Amino acid sequence: MVAFSKLFHPPHNSLPCSELLLHQGQTCKQLIWWNWYRCSVGSLRYFLPLAISPLVLRPKSLNTQALLNILRHYLETSLWGAAATAFTFNGICLLRNLLGRYYLYTATCLPAYTAFQLSWFFPVRTVRLFSTATTQSALETWLRKQNNIISRSLPLQTIIFMLSSAVILHFKRREEYNGFWFIQPIKNVSAQKNEENYEDLKKSSNCCTHEGKTCAEYVLTGMKGYLLYGIPLDLMSIVTKGRLPRTWKELKMIRFQMTAFFLSYIGIYRLSNCVLAHYPFDVTYQHLLSAGLGGISYFFLDKLTFSALAFVIAVQAAWQSYCQKPTKKPEDRLSSFLKSIPFAKLMIQVNIAYLAHCYIFQHDTMSSLAKGFFRGMTDDRFERIYQFLLNSLAEHEKS
Ligand SMILES: [Zn+2]
Ligand SMILES: [Zn+2]
Repeated sequence: MVAFSKLFHPPHNSLPCSELLLHQGQTCKQLIWWNWYRCSVGSLRYFLPLAISPLVLRPKSLNTQALLNILRHYLETSLWGAAATAFTFNGICLLRNLLGRYYLYTATCLPAYTAFQLSWFFPVRTVRLFSTATTQSALETWLRKQNNIISRSLPLQTIIFMLSSAVILHFKRREEYNGFWFIQPIKNVSAQKNEENYEDLKKSSNCCTHEGKTCAEYVLTGMKGYLLYGIPLDLMSIVTKGRLPRTWKELKMIRFQMTAFFLSYIGIYRLSNCVLAHYPFDVTYQHLLSAGLGGISYFFLDKLTFSALAFVIAVQAAWQSYCQKPTKKPEDRLSSFLKSIPFAKLMIQVNIAYLAHCYIFQHDTMSSLAKGFFRGMTDDRFERIYQFLLNSLAEHEKS
């Protein structure tokens, strides 16, 4: 194991930036444009699945306007992200030249934090994507670094996923959260019909109020719908990992994890909602309970990445709902102050700085999502720098 603390002792701490950032033959100024170009290429490639997935998952609902929207979101996200990433490299050069050496927090942390001030100019959807993805990655990396009970225990992660699932689907059902989640909520029938009609509907349909003749039909229709999400995602992950099965045995070894996850999630969610509808307690509690039970499907994923993501989205959903609530006038000062803080933008800067620091100094604890993000966005340049440091420190240890 190479000790990265050695990086702050001679001769490593005063390596010229051209050596550390592998820009021999180029001045720091020339590097600006080169980085911009490389990071743009890397980001466009990295975010390509983001642009393609709607084409694969819901081809029927696409029209010209929707396609243009997807293209715009894809270009904005890739190019703004690339610009901030390129500035990070220049920040490393600048701080090295200003300070004369590298310090623990000026090597990657401060340059990344400064460069990602650019997030103040990001379009809204890019901010949303970056804040969710980086908060998830930072949280997962932090949990792995702590190596505590949460990062090791499948039951505990499942409980977190179940609670998050209940919160997210609850706010989605009330239309107070409109962001991403794996499945859509069961429609809030009482919101559409007036209360009297709703009671009639409940009685006449033997307690269930869903479309479809029977409960089994209702559950199976849901599962059939999400089969179209799971299978393409599983196939896409096999293709992107570049491990195509060559033999029959390898083909049989493919675990359709996402498919199993989607089917069990929607299946348990709808089925438990039907069962609970026969008991005389509040519809909201029935829904919360069934949304939570659906979360048991996390068992098929068994990846800290997804429970961390679910937790982050649950907090976002609760916050979005809180911000939308009509308040009594005049609003109290604390509440209006809290609502005015641009948490998403502030989180992006802090998260990226933390992750850029961990990429070099706690590489093993990094989540694979975060590693992929850095490699993709920088066209593998960050990884090459890390490998260069690893090799030069190992060589130094030998001599
Ligand atoms: Zn330089
Ligand atoms: Zn039913």
